Amino acid sequence: MFTPKRKIFLSAPHMSGNELHYIKDAFDTNWIAPLGPHVDAFEKELAAYAGVNDAAAVSSGTAAIHLALRLIDVQEGDMVFCSSLTFIASANPILYSGAVPVFIDSEPETWNMSPVALKNALLAADQEGKLPKAVIVVNLYGQSAKMDEIIALCEAFDVPVIEDAAESLGSTYKGRASGSFGKYGIYSFNGNKIITTSGGGMLISNDVEGLKQARFLATQARDQAAHYQHSQLGYNYRMSNVLAGIGRAQLQILEDRVAVKRTIFNRYEQEMAHLPGVRFMPELEHTRSNRWLTTLTLEEKEAGVSIGVLLAALAEENIEARPVWKPLHMQPLFEGAKYYSHSSNESVSEQLFKKGICLPSGTQMTIDEQMRVIDCMKQCWVKEKSISA
Ligand SMILES: *Cc1c(COP(=O)(O)O)cnc(C)c1O
Repeated sequence: MFTPKRKIFLSAPHMSGNELHYIKDAFDTNWIAPLGPHVDAFEKELAAYAGVNDAAAVSSGTAAIHLALRLIDVQEGDMVFCSSLTFIASANPILYSGAVPVFIDSEPETWNMSPVALKNALLAADQEGKLPKAVIVVNLYGQSAKMDEIIALCEAFDVPVIEDAAESLGSTYKGRASGSFGKYGIYSFNGNKIITTSGGGMLISNDVEGLKQARFLATQARDQAAHYQHSQLGYNYRMSNVLAGIGRAQLQILEDRVAVKRTIFNRYEQEMAHLPGVRFMPELEHTRSNRWLTTLTLEEKEAGVSIGVLLAALAEENIEARPVWKPLHMQPLFEGAKYYSHSSNESVSEQLFKKGICLPSGTQMTIDEQMRVIDCMKQCWVKEKSISA
């Protein structure tokens, strides 16, 4: 009988085993609620890890972004700038707030927000007399954006930065934790992220008062009263004590996971960097990427192999690989939204979307499994050579 080869996922959850200890504690003490000692402890431990004053544990990274927009008082009709090359979750909360997204292109060295495009967008907005209420900067696939340049620009125009570090927990920029640079930073613990609580997120900041308000908004904005009284719009966004327990154990092995992700990246690079047309995602000087997903671009002409052929060959082998995120300014949902490109003749995010693919990078993947991916890819070049010979 034909047995299909074991599926190799892009990035599967990877428990350490110690999570069960925390889950059992939650059960034993009956703290089965969106509050409790694990929630408090997880917040403290993550804030300490990121080197910030405070952290608020919430139900998702998306919820954390939404709360950050509320704290900045983003309202209907306001403008919010956002990286274009990212997952939709970065920008959906802009729409939840009734605000108008404006998308900013990437630059080639980090694939993240282009300071050149951001400057042009800020200047144009300033000229029109309406600056954005916030700038959402994403650190894609673990690589930090050019934070010095971006923060300097936003400070010059007095616009707060929300750092979407959903994919870059464990990464550093000039020695400091990714996510800790904006007025607010957010992490995600969704199932595919570098550490996971199955679902969850964190809002971090040095603004302790702001995060107090975030916790208030995240628990239906209940006023101080024995009866249920509400004078503001709130949400049900807090993290469960059971899931926070999982998060505490996951945080303890974060450094190991980063090390393994980086080893996976290095092996791909070592084995495939010589293939014609292949370029791996760069790592900006003075940054350390968690290499959440190994990504590369393929110059089809130089390679003689197309992205379509490559993805089909991998799928055939039961290997999950994907194109990089489709830029948000190209999404039907955001049709008509303003977009500022890196230069007048170069839209970097569109090029990356056309050429980029993400390879399986799960920390539980064995060397044999990774070699299956590598061999499958190399075969595409060999076949191409034999056809053209
Ligand atoms: C995963 C992700 C999010 C959202 O996180 P959730 O916890 O799934 O809501 C936001 N931004 C980026 C870039 C992400 O990859």
